[in-house]
Formats: sequence, structure tokens, C-alpha cells
Amino acid sequence: MQQRLQAVKECNLLLRDPLLPGKLRDIAYRILISGFKMGPNKSWGNKSWGAKEDAHCIHCGKDESVPHAFLTCAPVYQLWEQLLAWWAKRTKQHLKPTHRNVLLGLVTDEDDDGATLSFPELKQPYLFLRTAAYEEIRTERFLRRERQNSQRTTKQLVQATLGRLQGYASALYKQAAHWERWKHTKTDSATVHKHIEARSMDAFHIAWRDTGLVYIRHSADKSNYPIILRI
Ligand SMILES: [Zn+2]
Repeated sequence: MQQRLQAVKECNLLLRDPLLPGKLRDIAYRILISGFKMGPNKSWGNKSWGAKEDAHCIHCGKDESVPHAFLTCAPVYQLWEQLLAWWAKRTKQHLKPTHRNVLLGLVTDEDDDGATLSFPELKQPYLFLRTAAYEEIRTERFLRRERQNSQRTTKQLVQATLGRLQGYASALYKQAAHWERWKHTKTDSATVHKHIEARSMDAFHIAWRDTGLVYIRHSADKSNYPIILRI
């Protein structure tokens, strides 16, 4: 029990990235709580999620639960496999679609010798990838259930998820650009800098550009998507 509480705390800390939009934090938090099967929220817990605890999966008809809906259901699992294959190609961090990696975000990448590799600079991008995928998975279930839409292919879901990720990366880049301009208007920039370094352009470059995930487009029109995800 003690260990479990410690793990919940650790997962929760990951969600505290100040740059993570509230809606993404919310969905990730609910999945986290359900992933641990705690208390009354052990399944969907909330009607707005479009399912009851005893409901059946819209994709396969099996009993619905958060781990099923967001990880083990076949089409969802395929989505994670492809997203993580893309992730490995770009970042050289090889992750398997496990409960721990996908639902809890407690990433461990074991190399062939069994040593655990740590990629601190990838923490934020992985958090965004994970939560953008949750968002897309939830959207897909909503579309199928409420609008009776047909199921999208894995390829379409991958594209949609990476499209979201590119949108979030662009928003982060714009925020960093604003922050850099604002920083220079402050007289005691040393103190300011110390506290919100995470918002700086340097931090963005380290996490997103230098890891090989995106390139920055230097075009005349800076208002649209300045960031292009490397597919
Ligand atoms: Zn299913």
C-alpha cells in the first residue's frame, strides 16, 4: 500500500508540468486514478465519459474499463504500438505499450543489458504524446458511440494524434517566444528566470528540437504552425 501511494504521488508529479493544458491534465488524472483501481473511480466513475461501469466496449464488445479503453482494446493497443514506434524512431527511446508506460507514465526503458535508461529531456514531450493520444482515443469512442461514425483506421488515428501533438508543440513554442519577449521587460530578470525557466525558449529547444521531434519553420507567416513534427 505504501509503495502504491508512493507511485501515485510520482505519477501525479508528472502531471504537474505547468505547461500542460488543464483539459489534458484532467483526462490524464482520471486515467491515472482508474489505472490504480482506487475507490469509487475504479472504472469510468463519471457519466460525462459516455459510459457506465457495466458498459461494453464500443470497439470489441468486451467489458469496459479504463485500462481496456485506453490500452488493451485491440485497435487502441495498435495505436500505441505505432505511436511508440514513431517515438523510438525519433528519440531513440524504446518504450513498450505497457500499463506502466502508457497509463501511469512511469517510463522505464530497459536496454539489452537490463539497465534502465533515463531520458529527462523527453519527459515533457512524452507527457504531451501520452495525453494527446488519450484525447484522440476518447474522441474516437465518442464519435462511434454518439454519432455512430465508422471506425477510423490505425493510420488515421496515428495521424490525428500526431496532428494534436504538433498543435500542442506549436502552442508551447509560441508561449516560449512570448515569454522571451516579456522576460526582457523585467528589471530583476534573474529572479524571474529562476522560477519560470521551464517557459523559456531554451527549455523548448532542449525538449522538442534537440531530441529530434520537431523542426522550427522560419517562414514569413509565424502565426500558424511554426513547429513541424518530424514524422
Ligand atoms: Zn474493446
